[in-house]
Amino acid sequence: MAIAENLQKIKATLPDSVQLVAVSKTKPQSAITEAYNAGQRIFGENRIQEMQEKAEALPKDIQWHMIGHVQDNKIKYMADFVSMVHGMDKEKRLKALNKEAAKVDRIIDCLVQIHIAEEDTKFGFDYQEAEALFQKNLEEVYPNIRVCGLMGMATFTDDQEQVKREFKGLHSFYHKVKTQLYNKDYFNTLSMGMSGDYKLAIEQGSNMVRIGSSIFGARN
Ligand SMILES: *Cc1c(COP(=O)(O)O)cnc(C)c1O
Repeated sequence: MAIAENLQKIKATLPDSVQLVAVSKTKPQSAITEAYNAGQRIFGENRIQEMQEKAEALPKDIQWHMIGHVQDNKIKYMADFVSMVHGMDKEKRLKALNKEAAKVDRIIDCLVQIHIAEEDTKFGFDYQEAEALFQKNLEEVYPNIRVCGLMGMATFTDDQEQVKREFKGLHSFYHKVKTQLYNKDYFNTLSMGMSGDYKLAIEQGSNMVRIGSSIFGARN
């Protein structure tokens, strides 16, 4: 029952406006079922094939979010069921997702990933590139995807001030895009915050947190 308890504890601390993505990557289907039975419906995975296997086996009302780095040649394996794709880190990725979504006659929700961390191991557009992207008429260029917001991962550090700064920067850019560059009703999601930093992320304006280990326990 640990999973259900962890989930309830975390949910009790989240404001109503914040959506919880339960990050189940590497965890068995039984762990997802336990969270599902406790009411959770949004799950995050970072490998397309693993997500596909789980989606086939588990209840159909689960909303699967792809939160990891996406390889263009694997998008076809999730195009018919994925609910949201967080890691749109390059324009060619938007193009690839749009193409696969068209093949299955869907409009797929996605988030543009912004590189906010100091580490260069993390993926994403920098602010300038993203600004140029949102100058385009994305609905016209990519009619089979819907850019619903932004996603970012802070630097892995104990320096809370730095993490806060990075989240604050992303929130202010989100606000700018929403009000000045890409003023669409559906552009309403800011995905930032994981087990170690989600409280800070919410304080800085996150409305979607991706929490794994605090729900399911540490990964190997
Ligand atoms: C694994 C992962 C998470 C969850 O991390 P935890 O620290 O276990 O909460 C969140 N976001 C992304 C992109 C991840 O890859």
